[in-house]
Amino acid sequence: MIPDSATPAAAAAATPAAATPVVEIRGVDKTFATASGGVVALQGIDLTIRAGEFVSLIGPSGCGKSTLLRIIGDLTGPSAGDVLVNGKPSHRARLDRDYGMVFQAPVLMDWRTVARNVELPLEVMRYPKADRQARSKRLLDLVELGEFGNRYPWQLSGGMQQRVAIARAFAFDPALILMDEPFGALDEMTRERMNLELMRIWRETETTIVFVTHSIPEAVFLSTRVVVMSPRPGRVNRVVEVDLPPLRTFETREERRYFELVTEVREALRGFEEAAAVDEVVDARIRVEGIG
Ligand code: ADP
Ligand code: MG
Repeated sequence: MIPDSATPAAAAAATPAAATPVVEIRGVDKTFATASGGVVALQGIDLTIRAGEFVSLIGPSGCGKSTLLRIIGDLTGPSAGDVLVNGKPSHRARLDRDYGMVFQAPVLMDWRTVARNVELPLEVMRYPKADRQARSKRLLDLVELGEFGNRYPWQLSGGMQQRVAIARAFAFDPALILMDEPFGALDEMTRERMNLELMRIWRETETTIVFVTHSIPEAVFLSTRVVVMSPRPGRVNRVVEVDLPPLRTFETREERRYFELVTEVREALRGFEEAAAVDEVVDARIRVEGIG
């Protein structure tokens, strides 16, 4: 009889690597030192992200979304707690180039062509030239900029530039892509198109994505899970599982389940707006009437 572990699936399940989450955040706090003492940006964050997930972080402005993303990416350190990426400390993961990052404004080199911008991380990582060119071509095709490889960034629209930044982030097959409001500066129509495009690239590359956004529809449309954060100090308030069919299309935005999930996330967020408003009223009364 053939033992179970001889089948590829069983063998994969038996390897520790397959079981290791891509991101493990345990008890993370972050306090920024400021002139007036300190700002507690994050408190007691626990979150585990598995391979192939698309997780959005959403929450009121200033709740620590960017800070959490930067901690995952080792651009800043936590004040307490641990972050493991592919089972390694995040610093090691950064040295191993386990990350691709995309920010709100595309950071492109104006003196390099579009193709050579996508090739930049591959040059740094010493990929052979032919491999660099092939990868850059494939990724530019994937973001529908195959014809624009020889142009310069300043010759492209904002949306096209952001697609170049996305192609570059995916070019070296990082295990994890971190995106901080990448479509925040785009108009609604372009944004919806970019959402479809990102969805397609994510499925095709089978990458894991952590995505910061302000937009509830965007979070629900793209994600397998939406993490709703509370106002500062940021905590994980609620995690909404997005049980929509994996293949999202233009029609997804008209489905009943999509609306229900948008409402669920909106309500999780609205609680805070009301709580913040009540706090403000109470604060004002304390100041004006001296009660409290
Ligand atoms: P978000 O991305 O959710 O809008 P951020 O993560 O940018 O929020 O910021 C969370 C909180 O931490 C905010 O109150 C912000 O002012 C503060 N903060 C962020 N970075 C710094 C810093 N380098 N120094 C001091 N305070 C900071
Ligand atoms: Mg931010």
